[in-house]
Amino acid sequence: MPGPHSSSDATSPTDPSEPGFDPEVLRARYRAERDRRIRPEGGSQYQQATGRFGYYDEDPYAEAAPPREPLHDRVEVVVIGGGFGGLLAGARLRQAGVDSIRVIEKGGDFGGTWYWNRYPGIHCDIESYIYLPLLEEVGYVPKWKYAPGEEIRQHARAIGRTFDLYRDAVFRTRVTALRWDEDASEWLVTTDRGDRMRARYVVTASGTLSEAKLPGIAGIETFQGHTFHTSRWDYAYTGGDAGGNLHKLADKRVALIGTGATAIQCVPHLGADAHHLYVFQRTPSSVDVRGNRPTDPDWAASLSPGWQQRRRDNFLALVTGGRVTEDLVDDGWTSSARLQQKLIPSDGYRALPPEERERAYEMADFQKMNEIRARVDALVTDPRTAELLKPWYRYMCKRPTFSDSYLETFNRTDVTLVDTADSHGVERITEHAVVVGDTAYEVDCIIFGTGFEVGRSGITSGRLPVHGRGGVALTDAWQEGPRTLHGFYSHDFPNLFQLGPLQNASAVNFVHVLDEQATHVAEVVAEARATQARYVDPAPEAEAAWVDTIREKAADLYAFQAECTPGYYNNEGMPRKRSEAYGDGPVAFHALLREWRANGGMSEVLVDAERDRA
Ligand code: NDP
Repeated sequence: MPGPHSSSDATSPTDPSEPGFDPEVLRARYRAERDRRIRPEGGSQYQQATGRFGYYDEDPYAEAAPPREPLHDRVEVVVIGGGFGGLLAGARLRQAGVDSIRVIEKGGDFGGTWYWNRYPGIHCDIESYIYLPLLEEVGYVPKWKYAPGEEIRQHARAIGRTFDLYRDAVFRTRVTALRWDEDASEWLVTTDRGDRMRARYVVTASGTLSEAKLPGIAGIETFQGHTFHTSRWDYAYTGGDAGGNLHKLADKRVALIGTGATAIQCVPHLGADAHHLYVFQRTPSSVDVRGNRPTDPDWAASLSPGWQQRRRDNFLALVTGGRVTEDLVDDGWTSSARLQQKLIPSDGYRALPPEERERAYEMADFQKMNEIRARVDALVTDPRTAELLKPWYRYMCKRPTFSDSYLETFNRTDVTLVDTADSHGVERITEHAVVVGDTAYEVDCIIFGTGFEVGRSGITSGRLPVHGRGGVALTDAWQEGPRTLHGFYSHDFPNLFQLGPLQNASAVNFVHVLDEQATHVAEVVAEARATQARYVDPAPEAEAAWVDTIREKAADLYAFQAECTPGYYNNEGMPRKRSEAYGDGPVAFHALLREWRANGGMSEVLVDAERDRA
């Protein structure tokens, strides 16, 4: 893949698929690049979009909240969160025969991530046919291999309609506390709209990348121009829509801070429409080929019942190292499957002797990243800019990205890439400028593409206080670390189900995991109803055994992550010693759940009056 200025040093072979490089040189370069970026304050370099920065969190899409009377009623199930997790929980519970389901959602409609993120160029980077859930149930085939955000948001709404979840839903409402009422065997759910409702079951599905974060850049609050976060795009200011045409930026100098998966998608539009775009980069993303294409109508017509599940299972098996003979999705995720096991361990993870496995991984990784770097050379004409856009770290240190227009945007004369690696990011913001080194870049608008608080739900962070039996706070019960059975429930917190990756499975197509979780929860609730159980509460010994299993099987990703450039995958360069995901991977975990259900597992969680363990 010869580029306009292919370099010939030991780290950039002309043919990226051939070794032809010195692993020691690459290792040293990766280490040096990491050291340039690491910050001693780790995750605390960021601040939440709350308090004095609360305006970054405001909802630019909803009409003013319609007044409503506080609710003091009773429903069978409250689901917290109206993204795909909550929608799947609602849909699977509906299929299990539950009539009274209330989804409580902070946004003005269903959609979750896809409600909040509407930035120009937004697409899902996982194939639409496996990402959008419940396609067969809703009777829909996406229009593109990689769906635009608006199509996904509309699909979320269609799920709401198909499963009649709008009927009892409340929007623009945030749950503020959960308290178990022992006498009534139900939860008291309070919200920021004055509600005090009661629910027999509560399912939490509040997401893991849902709270926008801002960098703690000195002077950030002094900026006098316009500013917003990518997850609250201000189209009133930019003009246009998610398809682009940001015509109101024609006379504006725009700063975009951040070059993660979000920036990769919005930069081509900002570059095309702003008077001048400055992209402030600390660490370049790896940007691979996208190859989006419209859905072939003949293929769509040929699909037979069960097609989506087969396709999703095929993808999941492939990207977690399972033995699969065909690759139905056939894209950048499946072709780099071996490398992803550095993030999410596979079922076949332990097959090779450790040293051999590590060597094979590393060589494949070097080759992949050489390809990614050669692609930059091939697409970016200015050699200095091309050098700055090359990622020097292992493939799964950061979320890989895909774009057929991002790198090319830097060939425009009205787009400037500003590298901030040596100053550990943007140094200062003044009334009218973004400052890096000796240069103050005067701008009219600053857009923060600086991501989200990661991995902590309201429940685990304590932002949403939960009190179970005897008034015990969940955060107290978990002082020594989380304790669950299968990640879903915790002893003394009856009828409370948590969706998410904690002590459960994870995967790049996380909506698939959420569907398996929702299906499991719905089956447990259905069984509790059918047997008239007093409540669902895992036996302490079952919970203890699961915590032991999580510890025993935990994949040791520490060594890999410690060498990685900082980012949210490795807790900003300070990786956690302990993994809370199920170490044998999602395929094994889902099989384990099915077996548990089929072989009497329910007796570990269903409590009836006679067997009340109180
Ligand atoms: P990220 O957390 O991935 O990126 C934040 C960016 O801000 C990074 O480039 C970071 O640099 C930069 N940054 C932070 N602080 C500073 C600073 N002080 N100065 C300069 N730059 C700074 O956020 P995204 O919104 O891009 O993506 C978040 C996640 O959302 C993705 O990883 C993905 O999981 C999901 N997503 C998924 C998509 C999909 O299609 N499925 C699309 C978009 C997002 P550095 O890297 O050096 O820390």
